[in-house]
Amino acid sequence: MPRTTWSWPVLHDAQRDVLLEVLVHGPLSRAELTRRTGMSRASLSRLSRDLVEHGVVTEGEAELRPGRGRPSETLHVRPDAARFAGIKLTGDVLYAAVVDLSARVVDTVEHPLPSREVDDVVELIGAVIDGLREAHDRIAAVGVCLAGDVVGADGRRRIVGSHFLGWENIPLADLVSARTGLPTEIGNDVQSLTAAHHWFGAGRGATSLALIGIGAGIGAGIVVGDAMIRGAHGHPGKVGHMRVSDTGPQCDRGHTGCVSSYVTIPAVRQRAGDAPFEQVIARARTGEETASLAVRDAVRALGVVIGNLVCIADVQKVIVTGEGLPLAQFDDALLAAAVADALDPAAEAPPIELHPFRFADYAWAAAVSAIRLVLST
Ligand SMILES: [Zn+2]
Repeated sequence: MPRTTWSWPVLHDAQRDVLLEVLVHGPLSRAELTRRTGMSRASLSRLSRDLVEHGVVTEGEAELRPGRGRPSETLHVRPDAARFAGIKLTGDVLYAAVVDLSARVVDTVEHPLPSREVDDVVELIGAVIDGLREAHDRIAAVGVCLAGDVVGADGRRRIVGSHFLGWENIPLADLVSARTGLPTEIGNDVQSLTAAHHWFGAGRGATSLALIGIGAGIGAGIVVGDAMIRGAHGHPGKVGHMRVSDTGPQCDRGHTGCVSSYVTIPAVRQRAGDAPFEQVIARARTGEETASLAVRDAVRALGVVIGNLVCIADVQKVIVTGEGLPLAQFDDALLAAAVADALDPAAEAPPIELHPFRFADYAWAAAVSAIRLVLST
């Protein structure tokens, strides 16, 4: 049964703004917070006290820095103040992670998906959350992410068309929330991963970035002006079917030479004779012709995707991650040349970070989306 003994404190906008600054950029001194938020020192003192009373931050002395005068009191997040559960659904497996308020993973669980029926999946999510609440008594919210289109409608977030689960128009946030009694956020997996990296991972400190996730498919998330681009229909960053070549292979939608026909794990495997992915990469490294062509074409197409994203959004940084990362790691010079070739001459190639990936990263990202949920409502 859902528990009602503890819940995330109700914070008003200014309190959330200060907490968010400390969460993402902290620990911060009151002087730095005054500068960052534009609030007066008196307001900040009051808000700091409120947040300390709510148990989500502590106040401490900053280290005395020579020549900087008196140390200013600093605000620190209390990581143990709350826990957040994240779930990544694939067609076969549920991955769960629990994070603390600083987005550090403190627990992970995996469970096979016995059925893709919505009711069964919601019940499994509920049972997994029940189990996690036995071990963690302050779970404040739940995040779920999956490869699919997630859009808002009438103020509610719905799933529209998850190819891997065979779902259409499912109000999953409401269903999970009803089962668990917890606020629930739903997100596309690559969008969630982008948002999580922006606040707590490889994109920390950047006000604009693009993240490209390569796996069974390819997708991108874009941050501009410190905010995720949400798009008019909830699914920006759909780079998979952009045209790369007029004469290339066909994707599963019948396009000739689109990004998906080159830069997904299934596409690379198929072009290299259906061998396991690791084997294709190894064969390409030895220079074997078929595998080499499949992998090098994938690198070139990835370069087009990166270059196009940079042309459109002029981001500070590009992060490439996902199970298909070995494609991006295959040949740095080839990737850099392909990016440069796709850029406007006036555009500048930003740093490209090839970020190591574990499948639990998506569950982590879903848990971070639960943190974002309580800080945005
Ligand atoms: Zn296509």
